Amino acid sequence: MHKQVDYLIIGQGLAGSLLAWELIQRGITVHIVDNNQENASQVAAGLINPVTGMRLVKNEGIENLLPCAKQTYQSLGHFFKTDFYQKKTLLRIVRNEKELKKYQQRLLDPSYLDFLSSELKPTPAELIAPLGLIQQKQTGYLATVPLLKQLKEFFQSKQCYQATNFDYQALTFGNPFSWQGLRAKKVIFCEGYQAINNPWFQYLPFQLAKGEILTFKNNTPVIPEMLNYGRWFIPSSAQEFRIGATFENNVIDTQPTEQAKTDLIAALHKVYPSLKSAQLIKHQANIRPTTLDKSPFIEQHPEHKNLYIFNGFGSKGSLQIPFYSQQFVDYLSSNSSLRKPLIQQSY
Ligand SMILES: Cc1cc2nc3c(=O)[nH]c(=O)nc-3n(C[C@H](O)[C@H](O)[C@H](O)COP(=O)(O)OP(=O)(O)OC[C@H]3O[C@@H](n4cnc5c(N)ncnc54)[C@H](O)[C@@H]3O)c2cc1C
Repeated sequence: MHKQVDYLIIGQGLAGSLLAWELIQRGITVHIVDNNQENASQVAAGLINPVTGMRLVKNEGIENLLPCAKQTYQSLGHFFKTDFYQKKTLLRIVRNEKELKKYQQRLLDPSYLDFLSSELKPTPAELIAPLGLIQQKQTGYLATVPLLKQLKEFFQSKQCYQATNFDYQALTFGNPFSWQGLRAKKVIFCEGYQAINNPWFQYLPFQLAKGEILTFKNNTPVIPEMLNYGRWFIPSSAQEFRIGATFENNVIDTQPTEQAKTDLIAALHKVYPSLKSAQLIKHQANIRPTTLDKSPFIEQHPEHKNLYIFNGFGSKGSLQIPFYSQQFVDYLSSNSSLRKPLIQQSY
């Protein structure tokens, strides 16, 4: 007897995992296939930061995205008895007069007061910040590695996880589809940047971006806050921290480079010189599934109606994926339309 499921999901990064989790919560059957390579989700810092960029812009849709992300990680935390989401203050080092002016302008807009401190913060002795520090609120980071590991074990316990490369040629079309003895009514592709190899969704305008991250150990405790100085600094424990990330458009190799290492270290030492003695313990690189217009791809194939893609979360997977998973499952279960303008779609 062949196993039959509602959805075959390709990819167990954050997108495939949270989507599968949401489907399972609603009693819908899934089978997940992942090729077990180190993915963007595992390399990512998992930073959640509602106000970003040189112009201190509030993320579009933050009112929906942030509560949903927090609630999802909290309920996963309860289920697996692990705190995956760490709330942490983010101190932004003011880089120039223009940025300072922009900050003062933002304070006149009440909707920013939930996310930015109303005055500059005193600079800790360890840091160099002549123009001051802005405290960003409602920030934190997602511990993606333990989350994905726990979810993988959960899927394995439900016998709905398979570690293998999904060979596109082996998918037999029909109603249902069949693949390696499995039958599925629908297939959802969540392959991150590897979607560029997908014969059905290759046409989508990805603009992939390589990123590199360094992990260090220090002999003495580091400051407890996260920092943003054009790059970011995240203390992952009292004496361990990560810095990142570089951003290289249209580069799709996952090799760590000396150039990125040098740049990241130089930027850190400028603002936090006492970390010159910290020891580098890991250097990782991976590819963000970024898109040309910065919107995710949550699409039904125009011709093969039972093929879908759930991808394109760029640099903001931790913030966006919980909300879009719920929206997408609502859509799939009821054929309701997806809420615009948060989801650009072609249904
Ligand atoms: C250096 C760096 C730093 C980042 N920092 C942050 C951050 O601070 N905050 C944040 O929110 N986001 C960050 N991101 C972005 C974040 O990683 C992504 O938004 C998110 O993780 C994408 O998840 P995904 O599931 O779409 O892709 P992935 O995590 O890449 O997962 C895709 C999965 O599909 C599998 N797969 C692909 N093709 C096949 C196939 N044919 N057969 C079987 N399996 C297949 C892959 O092996 C992989 O496991 C960062 C990314 C990088 C690279």
